[in-house]
Amino acid sequence: MPETMQALVVIEPNRLEICEVPIPVPGPNEVVARVRAVSICGTDAHLIRGDYPGFWPPAFPFTPGHEWAGEIAALGPGAERFGWRVGDRVAGTSHDACGVCRECVEGRYNLCENYGRTGLHKQYGHSVQGADADFVVQGVKTIFPLPDVLTFEDGALIDPASIALHVANRGGVTPGDTVAITGAGAIGLLAGDAARIRGAGRVIVVGRGARLAKAAALGFETVNTAAGDPVGAVRAMTGGLGADVALECAGVPDAVEWALEMLRRGGRCAAVGIPTVGVEIAMQRLVLDELELVGSRASAGEMRRVMPHVEQGRMRVREMVTHRFALADYAEALATFNDRASGAIKIIVAP
Ligand SMILES: [Zn+2]
Ligand SMILES: [Zn+2]
Repeated sequence: MPETMQALVVIEPNRLEICEVPIPVPGPNEVVARVRAVSICGTDAHLIRGDYPGFWPPAFPFTPGHEWAGEIAALGPGAERFGWRVGDRVAGTSHDACGVCRECVEGRYNLCENYGRTGLHKQYGHSVQGADADFVVQGVKTIFPLPDVLTFEDGALIDPASIALHVANRGGVTPGDTVAITGAGAIGLLAGDAARIRGAGRVIVVGRGARLAKAAALGFETVNTAAGDPVGAVRAMTGGLGADVALECAGVPDAVEWALEMLRRGGRCAAVGIPTVGVEIAMQRLVLDELELVGSRASAGEMRRVMPHVEQGRMRVREMVTHRFALADYAEALATFNDRASGAIKIIVAP
């Protein structure tokens, strides 16, 4: 093992540098992994802009990155007791929860009551250092064996795929449902596959531009928001009834309002997009039509469950990759990600 590595360091919002830094040392039940592929997430772009001051990250300088895959390079004390070996190929996820609080014990570790408390909870690339580097240290609860048939690039997208499966689970999609998805980014498109995995009869993706064209290429029905009222369009496509389930994957107020309005009476909306401003909810309709609106945060157990669907091609992560960059070119990779005209959906960075 070398002693130093290259890492992306966000010195302050919007100031990126590639720095030579010490390789982090794994603590008890942690491993250090050689990162082979890391994907840029919408959260990374927000975090680098400084959109979550004092929260994600708690302080600058900071190394983001939480959608990654690589190989175990060294084990911290105790990691071997869980079966891990140097050289194992793994896919990482972000929530390293306490494992002890009520939510953790009941399986909802994404809602850990000790979130962010030093020594009890970490969220890699959010509350502690992440994987935009040659090496990353993570706890054994947050790494998953990557099957041989999957590449490291596939592995970097298991985390977003698990989030897409979680939102479809939270939406309670049942066989034959008509599912409307607002937002045609990577999570929206993968949520379309997740809805089908749960047996959706129809999947209608609502969005615009190159991303909506991608949705059509993936075989989903589409509604173009640039072409007029998307709520009316979804109602017209469903004989006036509306969708059984809406999965809100855009995180902007208009999309949240549309997602609720396009539901049938008694329909359910699960929201995974995180608006940075308040959203007005039409409470009269929610009450009188018994709509359900639930949040969906990250994933809770879906990493392992989504893996066979990725392996067998039902969760099409490989289709999401539009661009590739070296870690040294992270600034260019991020600019491409932020430029809608680039057609970027998922960008893979290789440290
Ligand atoms: Zn992410
Ligand atoms: Zn907990």
